[in-house]
Amino acid sequence: MIRSIPGIHHVTAISGPPQINVDFFTGVLDQRLVKKTVNFDDPGTYHLYYGNQSGAPGTILTFFPFVDAGPGRMGAGMASGYAYAVPVGKFDGWMERLAERAIDFDGPFERFGARVITLRDPDGAAVELVETLRRSDDSLDGFHSVTLWERDIAPTQRLMTDIFGYVEAGHETVDGVERLRLQAPGDARGTVVDLMRSDQVSIGRQGAGTIHHIAFRAEDDAVQLEWQAALADAGHNVTPVIDRQYFNAIYFREPGGVLFEIATDPPGFAVDEAPEKLGTSLQLPAKYEPIRDRIERVLPHLKVAS
Ligand code: ZN
Repeated sequence: MIRSIPGIHHVTAISGPPQINVDFFTGVLDQRLVKKTVNFDDPGTYHLYYGNQSGAPGTILTFFPFVDAGPGRMGAGMASGYAYAVPVGKFDGWMERLAERAIDFDGPFERFGARVITLRDPDGAAVELVETLRRSDDSLDGFHSVTLWERDIAPTQRLMTDIFGYVEAGHETVDGVERLRLQAPGDARGTVVDLMRSDQVSIGRQGAGTIHHIAFRAEDDAVQLEWQAALADAGHNVTPVIDRQYFNAIYFREPGGVLFEIATDPPGFAVDEAPEKLGTSLQLPAKYEPIRDRIERVLPHLKVAS
């Protein structure tokens, strides 16, 4: 394979009611709500996108906030967490800021030589902050990593190294839990994928507080088609290209069961709103504009602090 995946494009998770989700990610974690739209398969539910100021790939965390979502359960074959990259010099400030706001966190502890703290979002999902050497004016510089729980890490490892072009970057066992670190070449955001071996027998269940899928980046449509062909050649059951308005997407399940997506960098979030207005009004794909009134009546009102 001549190419490699540059890193994570976005992470999509499931949450409970949207307002506390918005308050936490914009207020506590200082992310910008860069898009307020609906679940394209279920337009009575929001799809909220958080990111940095420009909504750059590698900073995007998205939620399907189901008002009546039951709690999910973590298990093997699921993405179990994501970590934000704390820019150099800002880690102690984050701990102080959280303590000032009386927000509990675990840690700091060390993982592969870097300090990590873990806090909980309103649905109880883990949010990790990892100290990095990245330089940024932002308080968080998008993603550092995602963690996948697998029963057997070898098949997923082969996908990541042989097809995606990742290399092994660390291997440790802490308290009986094995963690293999894989890293994409280059210095993009979100280059790290940790595979954690779990002997837990129970299968995970999607619900509030769980991650729905992990999206990796393709630089453009042509590169995405190359990935689609390479994955099909390797025997993966990959979908046709699906238009997601802000990127094009293909999906497949990695061997351990986690839903993977490859999303294009273009066109990005400024395709239907000016950059300074991102996230301020409800954006709908053309097919739902005729029923905008009905959709707006169903969706709960959201307040976003500026
Ligand atoms: Zn996605």
